[in-house]
Amino acid sequence: MTFLSDLLAGPDPFAERVSVSLMTTYACQLRCAYCQVLRRGVHATKKVIDDTISFLERSDSKKLELKFFGGEPLLKFNLMRYAVREAQRRLGKTREIQYCLVTNGISLDAAKIRFLEKLPFLVVFSFDGDSITHAAFRADAAGRARHRTITGNLKRLINSKTDFFANIVVSPENLPALPRNLRYISGLGVKRMQLCYNGAVLWNGPDIMLLVKTIAGFLGSPAGKHISFLNAAGESEPVALKTDMITDTDGRVYMDGAIFMERRFPGARKCFLIGKIYELGKPEDVRFSRREHLRRWLNAFTCAEEEKIFISTLKAGAALRRLFSGSGKGMNAPRTSAP
Ligand code: SF4
Repeated sequence: MTFLSDLLAGPDPFAERVSVSLMTTYACQLRCAYCQVLRRGVHATKKVIDDTISFLERSDSKKLELKFFGGEPLLKFNLMRYAVREAQRRLGKTREIQYCLVTNGISLDAAKIRFLEKLPFLVVFSFDGDSITHAAFRADAAGRARHRTITGNLKRLINSKTDFFANIVVSPENLPALPRNLRYISGLGVKRMQLCYNGAVLWNGPDIMLLVKTIAGFLGSPAGKHISFLNAAGESEPVALKTDMITDTDGRVYMDGAIFMERRFPGARKCFLIGKIYELGKPEDVRFSRREHLRRWLNAFTCAEEEKIFISTLKAGAALRRLFSGSGKGMNAPRTSAP
């Protein structure tokens, strides 16, 4: 497949900042229609947090990142606070450490934003647009959209000093609503967005074309003029080839797609296991290259449908990459992931 050789051409785009995610908890208030994280009812322990900080400490890099992923990490805010306190104590004086919180926004109240403001935090705020979209795709266990609470917290975040961007999930079925949702989100005052095309569904050629046309149209519109997309940063696309590591709640380290795509790709966990965190050396010595990552993906599929879906999302990513490389909307931003 020529497009795959093109995607793998050149050196691996390992970021200067060495990043490790922590699966803080599998619990979440929402039941997003596209969620691929399996409910396991478990949370990280202080021992796993300590081991994750030790793993980061073994890196040679001066720049490090500890990322809080879930589920909803803010449901275990005390654990998050513990992790930050320990990371600051052990690494704060010798390394430049950044924290990243991937959140659905429901619990991001004023007190928590005050906590984040005092630290070098980047918040990935999952937000798909208006209340109709949230009711259809991001309702809670009782079927409520929680849109008013989430939007209120997003506005509070916008008015704070905390660095953030909105992570917008789009599937082929809600593509027609994307222009409306992009305008809605930029109308709230969001300036940075990441478009997360659903990696668990098939993207056919016309869908990919519509996705690209929609983004191009938005970027050319008055509402899109001041918006940057993180998809445009460096080698961000296709997201399916990114090589981020995550520590699970039991202290096993995986390439992160194993966990956040587990429902759709049940074979991924076995293929993307790196090892037990306390047995591993430096993060930069154990992470996979993109080529190795792709090889493992191709071994992870349990049926032909999974392979079709995966290849289609690579094509969607490659199309976005072409769009952004010509849009002049590139930006220096951290490579990051979100549910
Ligand atoms: S996608 Fe994220 S916010 Fe939605 S249910 Fe899954 S973990 Fe929760």
